[in-house]
Amino acid sequence: MMTKTTRTSRTILLFAERRNGALRRVALEALGAARRLAGDGGQVHAVIACADGAAEDAAALIARGADVVHVADDPALRDFAPEAYIAVLGAAMAAVGPDALLLGHTAAGRELAPRVAAAHGAGHIADVTAIEIDDDGDVGFIRPLYAGKAFERRQFLPGHPWIITVRPNNMPAAEPQDAADRGGTVKELSFTVPKLYTAVRGIVSRAGGQLDLSEADIIVSGGRGVRSAAGFEPLRQLAAALGGAVGASRAACDAGYCDYALQIGQTGKVVTPQLYIACGISGAIQHLAGMSQSRTIIAINKDSDAPIFGVADYGIIGDLFEAVPLLTEEVLRV
Ligand code: FAD
Repeated sequence: MMTKTTRTSRTILLFAERRNGALRRVALEALGAARRLAGDGGQVHAVIACADGAAEDAAALIARGADVVHVADDPALRDFAPEAYIAVLGAAMAAVGPDALLLGHTAAGRELAPRVAAAHGAGHIADVTAIEIDDDGDVGFIRPLYAGKAFERRQFLPGHPWIITVRPNNMPAAEPQDAADRGGTVKELSFTVPKLYTAVRGIVSRAGGQLDLSEADIIVSGGRGVRSAAGFEPLRQLAAALGGAVGASRAACDAGYCDYALQIGQTGKVVTPQLYIACGISGAIQHLAGMSQSRTIIAINKDSDAPIFGVADYGIIGDLFEAVPLLTEEVLRV
C-alpha cells in the first residue's frame, strides 16, 4: 500500500544551470516550481557551479525567490565535466539535506539527475511537464509517456529525497519579487574536485547561433515539403520577423536541407514553444512526439488530409512558398 507524502512546507534545492556564463531560462522555471513545492514556510536553495563567481546570477536567483544560493566556483567547472558537477551537487545535497532536487531536463540535467539519484538512493522522475499540489499538500508529478500519447501522474514514497527534471518551457519562470520582502544569502560551497574522466576540447555550435530550440517561444519548422536548403530561407525570414528559431523534421535533415541540430521529434529535440508553425511537415507520430505539446500549432500543408492538421489549432491548406512570405509580410507590417 502506498503511504501519502503529504506535507505543506519543504526544503527544495535546485540546480541553477548556466550556459555561456548566464543562467538558462529553465533555471528560473525550476525556481518557480521549487517555490511552489517548498510552500509557505519552506526553503528554496539554489546551487550554481561556475568558474567566474556568477555574482549577478546569484543575485537574480535571490531576487526571484531563492532563500540561499550556494556557489561552487572552481576552474574545473568552466566546462561541463559531469564528475565535477556531480561532486558539486553531492556537496549541496549534504549541506542542505533537501526534500527534493530540481534540475532542467536538459542535456546536462539528463546526465546528472540519474547519477545523483543513484548516489543518494533517491527516487527520480524525469521530464516533468506539470506539478500538481492538492489542498492537502499532496504532490503529483505529470510526465508524458509513449512519445506524448499519454501522461502519467507520479508520487514519491516518503523517506528519500526526490530528484526531478523539469521539461524546459513548460512551467512559468520565477518573477522578481518585491524587494522589501526578500532576504537571501549567498554562500560559498566547497567541494572536492574528483578525478575527471572527461575533458571538453571545444564546443562547436551547429544551429547557426540561433536561440536554443528547447527554450524558443516561437519555432518555424520545415519538412520535406520545403524541398531544398534554399527553400528554408522564407522560413528563416518568418522566424526572424517573429523573433523565433527555425526547426525541421527528420526528413528535411536526412535530405540535407538543414543540420541535424534543428531536428525536432522523437529522435531530435523535444520543444514546447508558445507557437509552432509547421511548414510542409506531414505530422508523422515521431515528429509529433517532439512538438505536440506546443501551446499553439499552425500547420501549412497543401494536403488537407495531412495528419499534422489533427494536432494543429490553425491550418492553412496551401503552398508554403506562398503562405510563408505572406505571413512574414503581415508580421513585419504590424
Ligand atoms: P513527409 O512525411 O514527406 O511530409 C511532407 C509534407 O509536405 C507532406 O504532407 C506534403 O503534403 C507537404 N508538402 C509538400 N510540398 C508542400 C508545399 N509546397 N507546401 C505545403 N506543403 C507541402 N521524424 C521527425 O520529424 N523527427 C524525428 O525525431 C523522427 N524520429 C524518427 C525515429 C524513428 C525510429 C523513425 C522510424 C522515424 C522517425 N522520424 C522522425 C521520421 C518520421 O517517421 C517521418 O518520416 C518524418 O517526420 C517525415 O517528415 P516530413 O513530414 O518532413 O516529410
